[in-house]
Amino acid sequence: MTRDLKPRAKDVLMTDGNNGFGENVDRVLFTGDQIAAKVNELGKVIQEDYASRRPLLIGVLIGCFPFLADLVRAISLDLEVDFMSVSSYGKGTQSSGAVKILKDLDQDIENRHVILVEDIIDSGLTATYLLNNLRNRRPASVEICALLDKKEARTKEVFLKYTGFECPNEFVVGYGLDYKGLYRNLPFICLLKNEIYPDS
Ligand code: IMP
Ligand code: MG
Repeated sequence: MTRDLKPRAKDVLMTDGNNGFGENVDRVLFTGDQIAAKVNELGKVIQEDYASRRPLLIGVLIGCFPFLADLVRAISLDLEVDFMSVSSYGKGTQSSGAVKILKDLDQDIENRHVILVEDIIDSGLTATYLLNNLRNRRPASVEICALLDKKEARTKEVFLKYTGFECPNEFVVGYGLDYKGLYRNLPFICLLKNEIYPDS
């Protein structure tokens, strides 16, 4: 685990300026370069596994967007993309446990080879709900691809076929992941300083 990695020049640059990022970032866990290398690796594995199929990658909004965008460009295959949006969290860092579909798929997935693309699997509640929901639509197969696996936080066991990094049981932001809607645009994944979370 690369938890005490020093941010590189490029990463520090993004945290400077007048946007307030710099003073809120505590520690970079995964740099932009590490993420890029990992996403590339994942893409190549998926490319091999789905060589004779045309996978449908379903991104779970909003957090998946940088990951999915980079991932599909690492897969040299015919593939399709669709999105779902669910709410499983309020605006803080604790799961409410309730999952609600805010935006459903635009297409039928019957007989399709589906890959559910998630930014992070935390409790596992969202992924479990989505898997059951998608399986009811009779796809040929469904697998999960998650950039981050927060194993220690799991309350619902869920099988992850593809994972990028194991993530410590702490609230992380960046590369799509937010705290109260912010920090999604950080090109790295980091921890914020404790004082940013008033209720934890
Ligand atoms: P789960 O249902 O508890 O597995 O949580 C799934 C969703 O919660 C993820 O897709 C994220 O959107 C959000 N989430 C969980 N942990 C974090 C975190 O550390 N940072 C930001 N969002 C998180
Ligand atoms: Mg999410």
